Amino acid sequence: MNEILIKDGFIATMSKDKRIIQQGSLYIEDGVIVDIGKKVQTPRSPEIVIDAKHKVIMPGFVNVHSHLQQYFRGVYELMGDFYNTNLPLEGYRRPEDMDWLGDASCAEFIHGGCTTSMVIYTYIDGFAKAVEKAGQRVILGSDIEEVDLNRLKQGVYEYLPEKGKAAFKRSVDTHRKWHRKNGLITTVMAPKAADLAVPETYLKCKEYADENELRMTTHLSQSTREIRHVEKLYGKTPPEHLRDLCVLNDNLTGAHCTYATEKDTQLIAESGMGILHCRSTSNPLMDWIDRDIPIGLGTDDYHHDIIQLIRENISGQRRRARAVGGAFGMLASNKITARPSFYELLEFATRKGAEVLGIGDEVGSLEKGKKADIITVNMLNPYLTPTRDPLTSIVLYGNPSDIDYVVVDGKILKASGELTTINREKALLTAQKRTDEIINRFFEDHPSQRESWEKMTMKGQ
Ligand SMILES: [Zn+2]
Repeated sequence: MNEILIKDGFIATMSKDKRIIQQGSLYIEDGVIVDIGKKVQTPRSPEIVIDAKHKVIMPGFVNVHSHLQQYFRGVYELMGDFYNTNLPLEGYRRPEDMDWLGDASCAEFIHGGCTTSMVIYTYIDGFAKAVEKAGQRVILGSDIEEVDLNRLKQGVYEYLPEKGKAAFKRSVDTHRKWHRKNGLITTVMAPKAADLAVPETYLKCKEYADENELRMTTHLSQSTREIRHVEKLYGKTPPEHLRDLCVLNDNLTGAHCTYATEKDTQLIAESGMGILHCRSTSNPLMDWIDRDIPIGLGTDDYHHDIIQLIRENISGQRRRARAVGGAFGMLASNKITARPSFYELLEFATRKGAEVLGIGDEVGSLEKGKKADIITVNMLNPYLTPTRDPLTSIVLYGNPSDIDYVVVDGKILKASGELTTINREKALLTAQKRTDEIINRFFEDHPSQRESWEKMTMKGQ
């Protein structure tokens, strides 16, 4: 039997009743929380004891929407040209490269305390292999997109049925190969967006999802380009389009919804669909919260640090509120009523995120009977302590290095700040070498891109 006692910490359960235990303990048997409270029952001396004095014990983060684009950091952010840099560079990454990059991705998620992540990526296999070894909880989706991206660069949508067919097959293969492979990995059907996948593909995905009891996820109302094209093709907004296809329901999650109209928001609320919110501050977030639309937080593309994402949300919402003089539901003139509150954002990153993904009964809060997906945060850092409220300190000043223990399903994946299932140095240096090779290949074929990048980094001098 695998037993862990985490004792004498400040426990933020993130449960519905917002239970906080100022100094408490938590006892885990075979991956399940069997007791939690000021004093816990431990039948005999447990195998592992973690002293959580001066630590916050809380549920691991649930990262509801992410992609594996972090390898090209240092290029993407400097160039900022999606069609001329990001997209073609992605094309230089071969599926087999992922066998060399997966460990580094797992390291990033675990280091940052993401005990569950939904990861959508075209070539997911190499990452899945790394996850199996690393041991975190993931929901994998191989995305289905079927337009000619070279033509899209010029603003032309040309649908390629063969590309769609191959992507659908990859998605089915991902399900067959990985779904419930080790109890921690599940899969999802992921048509990319209403402008990038045709109605038949959405329907095929729905049929496959229904047959195999899978959930679906998609990007929804993310860009003005998408809105314009869906309007042109179908005379509808993207949520209306998906409603008419009968896929807008509580089995679907939609990422972003930045440009959802008021009517769209109403539709979404009625449908039960959950929203995967990332860093946009021009979406009607407060309206979603007030309508009880299920919401989770996702890191999206290059940087999978949930604490940083929460901070970006706070500063973005505040800036926006100030700019508009305190918009409806976000009275920035008054700090007490400014929204979303830090606690609300933490809820999105934990329990509510789990609910959005349909796994709220299993993870997302620390309660008896739930799976032991837990992080501890070391508060003995000069920028976190002293504090009257540890959660406020973590949200505003914490970072992944403060997370010293990460437990998933009762297994310790990070202990005293070190990853236990991944050789961090090897994983990162292997990924560095591989990405350098990929980027060099891209620059060889695109000398003007190399030149612009060198100018940005001053390498040309
Ligand atoms: Zn996305």
